[in-house]
Amino acid sequence: MEMDLKMAENGTWKWRFRLDDVQRPACAVTVRGVVNTVMESLNQDDGRVVVQLGRGDPSASLSFRTVAVAEGAVMDMVHSAKYNCYAPAYGLLPTRRAVAEYLSRDLPYELSSEDVFITIGCAQAVDVMLTVLARPGANILLPRPGFPFYEARAAHSHLEVRHFDLLPNEDWEIDLKGVMDAADENTVAMVIINPGNPCGNIFSHQHLKEVAETARKLGIMVISDEVYGHLAFGSTPFIPMGMFGSIVPVLTLGSISKRWVVPGWRLGWLAVNDPSDSLKDSGILDAIKGYMDIAPNPATFIQAAVPRILERTTDEFFSRINGLLRESAEICFEKLKDIHCVYCPKKPEGSMFVMVKLNLPLLDGIKDDLDFCTKLAKEESVVILPGVALGLKNWLRITFAIETCYLDDGLERMKVFCKRHAK
Ligand SMILES: *Cc1c(COP(=O)(O)O)cnc(C)c1O
Repeated sequence: MEMDLKMAENGTWKWRFRLDDVQRPACAVTVRGVVNTVMESLNQDDGRVVVQLGRGDPSASLSFRTVAVAEGAVMDMVHSAKYNCYAPAYGLLPTRRAVAEYLSRDLPYELSSEDVFITIGCAQAVDVMLTVLARPGANILLPRPGFPFYEARAAHSHLEVRHFDLLPNEDWEIDLKGVMDAADENTVAMVIINPGNPCGNIFSHQHLKEVAETARKLGIMVISDEVYGHLAFGSTPFIPMGMFGSIVPVLTLGSISKRWVVPGWRLGWLAVNDPSDSLKDSGILDAIKGYMDIAPNPATFIQAAVPRILERTTDEFFSRINGLLRESAEICFEKLKDIHCVYCPKKPEGSMFVMVKLNLPLLDGIKDDLDFCTKLAKEESVVILPGVALGLKNWLRITFAIETCYLDDGLERMKVFCKRHAK
């Protein structure tokens, strides 16, 4: 075959590879990308510390340091020299069993190790699901506002995305009628994120049941992103979607990243909650296994540490973390009430985030949410995430999982900023 890598007229090579419109998702929106854009506006000459309320990674804060038993487990596994090997494709058996037991504590039935696949953080569990569900013509239903990794990942697999709304004035519950309207015979699944990123909400038992019934009517499975599972500190308890696995098959995605505050350890899972075996003939399990067979795995010694981490982390650690989050959610909500150009529909009860709506007509010379965030970064050295990154223009996402002194300081600066720009 004759190669056509001819010298083009301007003297550069003409390569076969071209980024065309179909592949445009290479430029998709991500939280990291938008936060970086906002951070480019930071004023290097401002002598004050930068208050980072844009990302959800409190691991740098001393008070959010993970539990000693987790650190010890990892150290011991390294020192044992037993885990320098490759791990099996779906994860070490004791790890799969330990995750199955951990998740089963909250379920009316038992998961087995066969139902659990160990992944590189929750992100790879998302990757696995969106990859195996993608086929020509298929579509998936995602929440708006949501977590843009899903949109970006779906685009890379050419899986069509349709959105349903979360309703700010109804505790961020799902617009279930919108779900019915968005779905058609090519819809393969719907995604929920509970506890919620970005809204900090927790779905009630009743609402989750309605979600299950809606999905059942549509004949679609529910993918439940529970990466913030148990980070619930308000009046609504966290209930895993797997509770309704006998109504509709549920694929639960999780990790130790958030509850144990170790996102860099890259350890997550995908659990199939299907007690009535209704997925048996769908082929989805074979598809998951087929993809996991060629996917990379998390580090073996981290996997090996998981059984001890899950079994021995005490309630004391969990309640301390939830206590910290409760306190900062409280401070955040109270301080936001004092900032007149933003409106917070709901005090966060879970995860690490809250959404607030910008009241643009009250502000002078601020075009939109992105403009607000870049100017806030420039003038006050405070970083927050513009809602446009999450599909909700002119809203803002604020992370409250940070030392309360910084949170206080950051929100005070935001208040000063809003006053300075008030009409
Ligand atoms: C952080 C996060 C993830 C990714 O979790 P990792 O375990 O760090 O891969 C997935 N979904 C949501 C909603 C998240 O906030």
